[in-house]
Amino acid sequence: MESKTLYILAPCYNEEEVLPLTSKIFLDKLNSLIDAGKISENSRVAFVDDGSKDKTWEIIESLHELDPKFVGVKLSRNRGHQNALLGGMSTIVDDCDMIVTIDADAQDDVNAIDKMVDDFNSGSDIVYGVRDSRETDTFFKRTTAQGFYKFMSMMGVETIYNHADFRLMSSRAVKALLEFKEVNLFLRGMVPLVGFKSSTVTYDRAPRLAGESKYPLKKMLTFAFDGITSFSVKPIRFITALGAVTFLLSIIFALYALISYFVSKTVPGWTSTVLSIWFFGSLQLMAIGIVGEYIGKIYLESKQRPRFFIEKYLK
Ligand code: UDP
Ligand code: MG
Repeated sequence: MESKTLYILAPCYNEEEVLPLTSKIFLDKLNSLIDAGKISENSRVAFVDDGSKDKTWEIIESLHELDPKFVGVKLSRNRGHQNALLGGMSTIVDDCDMIVTIDADAQDDVNAIDKMVDDFNSGSDIVYGVRDSRETDTFFKRTTAQGFYKFMSMMGVETIYNHADFRLMSSRAVKALLEFKEVNLFLRGMVPLVGFKSSTVTYDRAPRLAGESKYPLKKMLTFAFDGITSFSVKPIRFITALGAVTFLLSIIFALYALISYFVSKTVPGWTSTVLSIWFFGSLQLMAIGIVGEYIGKIYLESKQRPRFFIEKYLK
């Protein structure tokens, strides 16, 4: 069987510190797979520059000059990790048979790619990289990330547990993914919706090789919130249910108030009045907020703005 073409795709945002190290790791992996005859000579390592403000693009250009096995895609500005991934995939999809997406900091174990390619060759269209342990993550990152997966599934968003954006996709799976026209991207929720045959490969996640995380807590929370509100209407249902329950409670309360009025004639009403103002006030604010969140999503989606622009493609 003729070997297939693999592109290893890494999004980069201000990664000048880590790229010189990890580009070599990716290239070595690519070359070893080519030498083993598992993938074709046309395989490449592709970097997407997500509007970096440092020397990232210059580094990608010089890598490309050094070795044509490196290719680069430059977005016109910073559009965030998820858009960078999709922008990169859409640019290279016609040049290859499969794409492995991986973070530029090589925290995910490149050796898992061997098994991913094997799975692809035995018929999988999507191979999810799944983290075995999180020992190398800080306690904070580990607990927040695991809480995130649990909360997502509670909210009815189907994701693969402990899988981030390290995965192999066949070109037809990528093309299917590109058919999703939504602007609020949450790839790890969208990819399972594509279907086709899939499998998982487990690996250990290492610490970042250099530089700092480009996902501070604020970005992480926004990402989680976007993931939930883009994929689940459970929060709205929850509020409807909450409304129903409080309605029942208020009927009981009204009965109680009426009865005590007739029985004892005087009702010292201050506490209950103040409490209910606060309670229902906050409940209503929360409800309006969540509904507003979805209206905001509809607003963004209805504009159908383009998700990214490719400024350059070095191939
Ligand atoms: N990234 C990106 N655009 C952004 C933020 C991050 O392309 O706006 C890339 C970043 O360069 C890296 C990947 O997304 O390749 C994951 O980021 P990072 O490793 O900082 O996240 P963490 O591993 O800390 O969750
Ligand atoms: Mg990282």
